[in-house]
Amino acid sequence: MLFSINPQERKIFETIADCAREMGTTAYVIGGYVRDRLLGRPTKDIDVVCLGDGIKLAETLASKLSPRPKVVVYRRFGTAMLRWDGIELEFVGARRESYSPDSRKPNVEAGTLEDDQNRRDFTINALAVSLNEDDFGQIIDPFNGLAHLESKIIKTPLDPGQTFSDDPLRMLRAIRFANQLGFTIEPSTLQGIKQYKNRIHIISRERINTELEKILRTNKPSIGFKLLFDTGLLRLFLPELTALQGVEDRNGRAHKDNFYHTLEVLDNLCSKSDNIWLRWSALFHDIAKPLTKRFDEEHGWTFHGHEWKGANMIPGIFRSLRLPLDAKMEYVRKMVLLHLRPISLTKEEVTDSAVRRLLFDAGTDIDDLMMLCESDITTKNPRKMARYLEGYNYLKERMAEVSESDRLRLWQPPITGEIIMQTFDISPSKEVGLIKTAVREAILDGLIPNSYEAAFEYMVQEGAKIGLKTGNNAPLEK
Ligand code: ATP
Ligand code: MG
Repeated sequence: MLFSINPQERKIFETIADCAREMGTTAYVIGGYVRDRLLGRPTKDIDVVCLGDGIKLAETLASKLSPRPKVVVYRRFGTAMLRWDGIELEFVGARRESYSPDSRKPNVEAGTLEDDQNRRDFTINALAVSLNEDDFGQIIDPFNGLAHLESKIIKTPLDPGQTFSDDPLRMLRAIRFANQLGFTIEPSTLQGIKQYKNRIHIISRERINTELEKILRTNKPSIGFKLLFDTGLLRLFLPELTALQGVEDRNGRAHKDNFYHTLEVLDNLCSKSDNIWLRWSALFHDIAKPLTKRFDEEHGWTFHGHEWKGANMIPGIFRSLRLPLDAKMEYVRKMVLLHLRPISLTKEEVTDSAVRRLLFDAGTDIDDLMMLCESDITTKNPRKMARYLEGYNYLKERMAEVSESDRLRLWQPPITGEIIMQTFDISPSKEVGLIKTAVREAILDGLIPNSYEAAFEYMVQEGAKIGLKTGNNAPLEK
């Protein structure tokens, strides 16, 4: 089958083909770019593999392009990268890889295209497109990747156990791709993940976190987190989250499963916001429920204090995932701490000062907090749902009122008594108060703009009305 080459990229592909021919080698586009183009997903990162010296191919290409791009060479990896016309190209020589048990870094030697395709993680990531004269644009698909794109399947090209044991990061990539692309992990591949899950310990936390973040950025991260849970991986790097799973029943009174509830909240939130830190907040909002769970004969299951205990757990979790310990963490901590506050303020009799206090504690993040709270409503009862949302709408109105009146209360007009006394060269007197009030009211009524210049001019006019003239000490108009 022929690959339909995007016109924008045809020129660069043809130039690469010329370079490869001059060098007496053959080159292919391979991996994510081919997959994403066939799926119609946007992509600008192109991986090129050639039989021989990938760095030399990159340098030869650069010499033919105008303007000539800079080639960044990574000698240690035998790769080179250049950017041209908004496209990022990475070059590597075809290689064969072999692994030792304690590392995901392979021993590498030069190999054939087939060797190079064998080292790829999934059949859909092993597709190559020829850039050679005799079969330009031909798709080389040794593992049925095209059929798997069609049937939406994630499958390893070789034995799943070997593939995952060699590089356990691939287990997370499988789940991430399934989530991002809406694909299913083929049963023996899924079984391979379950079987080799413990190998994840050779992967750095940073890499785990990168994949988690990609899952969190999808439209429906619950899919990825359920797969992480079902394969047993999640417990290995986020045991606090898996502890939320399960339902306990006492005397016929059961609480909800807080793991699945959390995932529902997360999905709800993802339909409202792209903010990755708000998404992490949703994932962790109930994190301390297992630690605070009690059974009370009268009230049933309670989780008192889970919001502040949860907030206190955030730094430890962030540290263990190597997430940043900066303002982002403080934001997540604040969201977890405050996530119950709005619901308690939806009652009619709540005072202005309670509302004001929430506004103060949430600061500029109040809208995010409200989004989290609205996402936290997972009842399946439409009447209850409507009632909760109405409560939040009422609270939002209250917040708008309180902040408006506070703004006026705290607002100071630009003309002070001092300025009035100095301008007209008068002492403290009733006139000072009259002029000051007149200027303030004029601004509040929208008669004049809220600026020093306009207020100064208005003050002079008002003074004139009661026979005052500007004195010698009058401050200059700013
Ligand atoms: P994305 O760019 O969305 O992360 P991708 O598939 O392009 O997806 P890259 O990390 O850019 O991923 O890698 C490019 C290609 O390199 C992949 O398509 C795959 O063929 C190969 N590859 C990447 N990581 C691995 C891995 N851990 N094991 C085997 N092959 C891999
Ligand atoms: Mg890529």
